[in-house]
Amino acid sequence: MTDLELATSRTWTEINLDDLAHNVKILRSILNPTAKFLGVVKANAYGHGIIPVAKKLTECGADWLAVAAIPCGIELRENGITLPVLCLGQTQPEFAELITRYNISQAVGDLENGRALSKLAGSHKINIHVKIDTGMSRTGFYWPDDKAAQEKAANEIYELYKLPNLEPEGMFTHFAAADDDPEFTRLQLRKFNEAKEALAKLGINFKIYHAAASVGVMNYPEAHFNMGRFGLVLYGYESTETGNTDGKLGLRPVMTLKSRITAVRDLPAGATISYGRTYTLKRDSKIAVLPIGYADGWPRNLSNNFSVKIHDTLCPNLGRVCMDMTMIDVTDLCRTHSVKAGDVAVVMDGELIIDAARNSGTIIHEMVCRPSLRVPRIYIESGKLRV
Ligand SMILES: *Cc1c(COP(=O)(O)O)cnc(C)c1O
Repeated sequence: MTDLELATSRTWTEINLDDLAHNVKILRSILNPTAKFLGVVKANAYGHGIIPVAKKLTECGADWLAVAAIPCGIELRENGITLPVLCLGQTQPEFAELITRYNISQAVGDLENGRALSKLAGSHKINIHVKIDTGMSRTGFYWPDDKAAQEKAANEIYELYKLPNLEPEGMFTHFAAADDDPEFTRLQLRKFNEAKEALAKLGINFKIYHAAASVGVMNYPEAHFNMGRFGLVLYGYESTETGNTDGKLGLRPVMTLKSRITAVRDLPAGATISYGRTYTLKRDSKIAVLPIGYADGWPRNLSNNFSVKIHDTLCPNLGRVCMDMTMIDVTDLCRTHSVKAGDVAVVMDGELIIDAARNSGTIIHEMVCRPSLRVPRIYIESGKLRV
């Protein structure tokens, strides 16, 4: 068995790097031409595989990469990625030495964390991006409405700015509702600009200001500043909920999740399917068994509530999703096609993902992150498949 045969023997994802390159090209064209292009590769590049994606983004001319945690930044460096890397998540000061050794830029959202990093940084400076909380209420220096409180916040940032062993490189914020609340987004943007000006008055200027993630870049050109942070759009989706249903950019979904049928069985009317007997066959049926389950990251709460594509035809799931297996009704399909063990089912693609996300009560971000560690990632590049 070749590596490719082994990797595609059960359940796998195909990651189309040609489509990733296509998306980068489109996204570049909507970004202010003077702004830097940051590709967000946190969470194993949204489940697509951090190293192949980072290499492709480098090849496509991305300027920056971002991760959520330092170990992922280290992984990038150890695999030869030399682009600037920003760690978006708050980092424990114990990482200070590694941050400098691997030349990672670090987000800092409060003075206490900044002081601790400064103390442990040693002889090399840590590049920092000061995070401003303009309304996401996650991390960052909270930017208040009240003038006196603003002055206090600015002074705290000034204190951070002056700490030894830290090299202030950027300042940024993150929108809480860029997709559906323009009023709040503009308020966040106003606060960010206020903070920027208040700090400039204190003589604090940064090389890079950034605010917009995927939807922010698309909807708010005034929020581009010097850099756009592209996450979900890179992977081919314009909307966290509706995918590209009313998409305008022509992005191409990069990931397809596939599973190879292990058996097609004849079962009589009245048979009950899977754990808990949640489905009773109404007719004599042909049932395909797919070797995919919740341990592969496929949500159990989609039981009896999703379809897969076999020979390009939608076929519904019957009964509960198990840990390693799922049953599919192929009775109708068998009238027009031969369906047999070894045939491939598409479980998630750019179309199927929309209903799957909605019916599972989540968003596309979470669906692409779901395929678990035991699901091999296969890459398509220049039209060719490789492991
Ligand atoms: C995850 C993240 C992004 C990317 O978000 P998308 O909506 O996927 O584009 C950008 N910035 C920050 C701070 C993030 O945490």
